[in-house]
Amino acid sequence: MNRSKPPRKKTSKLKAKQAKDLVLKQQIHERDGWKCVRCNRASYLQAAHVWPKGKYDKLRHVADNLLTLCAGCHLWWHHDSPVVVGAWFANMYPERAALLCELKLKG
Ligand SMILES: [Zn+2]
Repeated sequence: MNRSKPPRKKTSKLKAKQAKDLVLKQQIHERDGWKCVRCNRASYLQAAHVWPKGKYDKLRHVADNLLTLCAGCHLWWHHDSPVVVGAWFANMYPERAALLCELKLKG
């Protein structure tokens, strides 16, 4: 039987990026002790970007730019005001916040 629509092939570049994302996600969870860094929950863990990967592609695979958050805290991270989450992060990780600011400015 002929399929009218063959499955869309992913480019190898995209595949490599996603493979790297997955490896990094494991490393981030490992570093953060397999629990949410905000509420200590150990389920529904996700790797959250401090500075959004869409806007700062160079920070996409920088471990300091990633946090282990549970699904609920990840929602909080993206939906609360940037001032609130920024202050929380700077308070939790002052050195990382300073480093990321530097990296971000370098562009
Ligand atoms: Zn949480």
